[in-house]
Amino acid sequence: MNLFDFTEIPADGERWVRFAKDFLQLFGFHIETPPYRDTENIFDFVAVEQIPGKFNYHPFRWLVSCRHKAATRTAVKENEEADILERLLRSRADGFIGFYSTSVSSPLEFYLAELKNSLLIKDYRILDAKFLETHLATPGFAKIAFQYFPNYAQMHQILHLVEDEYLPILCEHCRKDLLKTLFTENQEGVIVRLRRRKGNHEETTVIANIYAACKGNCDAELQTKYCNGTNLNAVSWTDLSDLVASPIFLDWTLSLLRKIGTDEFTYTTAALDKEIYLLKALAQYVLREPTGKNTSSAQTTIF
Ligand SMILES: [Zn+2]
Repeated sequence: MNLFDFTEIPADGERWVRFAKDFLQLFGFHIETPPYRDTENIFDFVAVEQIPGKFNYHPFRWLVSCRHKAATRTAVKENEEADILERLLRSRADGFIGFYSTSVSSPLEFYLAELKNSLLIKDYRILDAKFLETHLATPGFAKIAFQYFPNYAQMHQILHLVEDEYLPILCEHCRKDLLKTLFTENQEGVIVRLRRRKGNHEETTVIANIYAACKGNCDAELQTKYCNGTNLNAVSWTDLSDLVASPIFLDWTLSLLRKIGTDEFTYTTAALDKEIYLLKALAQYVLREPTGKNTSSAQTTIF
């Protein structure tokens, strides 16, 4: 699942160039001013990297070629990057960066590798959709993610990925992603734990399962599914919107650690696996960039 939809940036290319400049600036490059102008390639600019030496910094000039093909979802081909050597010469650049909203075709990458191997260029790098997406999802890039991807900002705000892929929190009944509803007015998710009923002489509380659900109907359906005719009781309802407030998230995590460290309390493997997944999924929200929005006041998490 892709977090960013690059077609949010118009296909004409000019805004893609502005995005490339802002991205590379945040990445630590200096964008040459006055800008290098190439009337034939208006989608080129020069970004300068300062390589530290013993006494001084040495500028390494990169020719940045912006190609925005997200709308066609096709890789950038060799014939779309004509005259690379001439363009590098004209801009007095040492290396080549392909700033692409899709990917690079194998023949073009092979050609660039050949240029480097034969020492005609010092280096090259391809910043493709995957590379850009990985960085846009990290703290520090939130500002331009909001600026250039308004739908993304509205739908996802900024979630901090803790694994390669986004981890949703799905309602176990209707499969709605409850983590996303935290960014809407409809904050309807609830986390429910299921405790095994104790026998007469049992002292250990067993959490047998956990589910996430929409409040109301979905929750009621799942309670029926899990508890009717079984030895399970639903014992705690925690609003997802409370749980993603940092102090409550920490309290929830610590309380879990304390409880699994005592004899009075135990989890089935399945329930513990679900707790761990929920912690990771919630961390995507809790560890995100500050957005200026406050979560609602939270109640203490209790079993
Ligand atoms: Zn539901």
